[in-house]
Amino acid sequence: MNFPSDRVGQIPPYLFAEINKKKAEMIKSGIDIIDLGIGDPDLPTPKHIIEKLAEEAQIPKNLKYPSFVGCSEFKQAVADFYLRQFGVELDSETEVLALIGSKEGIAHIVPTLIDPGDYVLIPDPSYPVYRMATLLANGQYYNMPLTKENHFQPDFEDIPKEILKCSKLMFLNYPGNPTAATVDLPFFKEAIDFARKHLIPIAHDSAYNMVTFDSYKAPSILQVEGAKEIAVEFGSLSKTYSMTGFRIGYVVGNREIIKALSILKSNTDTGQFTPIQKAAAFALNSDQSCVAEYNRIYKDRMTAMLNGLQSIGIEVEPPKGSFFIWAPVPNRYTSAEFVTSVLEQTGVIITPGTAFGPSGEGYFRVSLSVASDRLNAAVNRIKEKVKIAIN
Ligand SMILES: *Cc1c(COP(=O)(O)O)cnc(C)c1O
Repeated sequence: MNFPSDRVGQIPPYLFAEINKKKAEMIKSGIDIIDLGIGDPDLPTPKHIIEKLAEEAQIPKNLKYPSFVGCSEFKQAVADFYLRQFGVELDSETEVLALIGSKEGIAHIVPTLIDPGDYVLIPDPSYPVYRMATLLANGQYYNMPLTKENHFQPDFEDIPKEILKCSKLMFLNYPGNPTAATVDLPFFKEAIDFARKHLIPIAHDSAYNMVTFDSYKAPSILQVEGAKEIAVEFGSLSKTYSMTGFRIGYVVGNREIIKALSILKSNTDTGQFTPIQKAAAFALNSDQSCVAEYNRIYKDRMTAMLNGLQSIGIEVEPPKGSFFIWAPVPNRYTSAEFVTSVLEQTGVIITPGTAFGPSGEGYFRVSLSVASDRLNAAVNRIKEKVKIAIN
């Protein structure tokens, strides 16, 4: 067979494919599965957003090809949100671009900025799209290890000089998936200083920028003075408003990078369905109490799960954002062994840390995508069925 291309052929099978297969078999044999593997929130999209979508879908001109640079109402809503939330001024026409979900933009920014053989600096562990998009662009990636010791922040000074010389892009992601790590503005300042010194553009993925707890407010990298010279930030409505299926996100920041990305996109897609963009603008412009409510729910689930894990001897510092818990695998197990044994013995699905990069070994990720009673049930099953030596 002379297909697929080497580019596609090198992509490892979809991370959840194996787990999904096992899950399907177990459901078939009547086992009650508790799925803490997926990063898709179970909370419903707020009603006012769905109603707006339905209303906009009744308007004939909204059903035509959308403008390939995105609808200006959506872009203005993003600019207004940045001013309100971060005090960052954006020109909605040149510094904001609508995306078909932020994943689409994250995947397309790579070939926008790198040529075959160039390096992309990637946090390890991280969202797999950074890595796969690099491979699909015939690029190479350098893993920047995120460890508990470095507070899950890359040590920029550890990156070898030869790698820096051929690096054309660096990804960052806070609040982080899978680590749930958060940062404060000084870290972004350090990152921007480093990027400007080495002329390496930064793409900050802020998918969880609004999923935060208590008084913690996630900063935008664009709050750093001069950030717009070298950085863009990806954002999404998926997690904030439980809108994963809508496929709507945005990129903001450096106008030359955004212009280049829009050239690539205008030859690839024709933008998101206008009613979706209008509904997303409405979500950003409306009362934000749904966001606060959802964050309270995630925080309660987080607390329930952290307590449960503690009761089986697994200690995790409470995250300030995201809906993930990044927990150390109990003694002796590898990530894969632990996850497999939990699934087979309890029907609870968790994700092995190694799915997010080699530095994920020794960890597993719990997604808070089910209600607290189910989280408690999951912990109880693990307590009963999986041998964990509490030290
Ligand atoms: C969910 C997620 C995304 C993608 O979000 P969409 O806007 O739905 O494409 C991007 N980055 C991270 C880290 C995510 O977890």
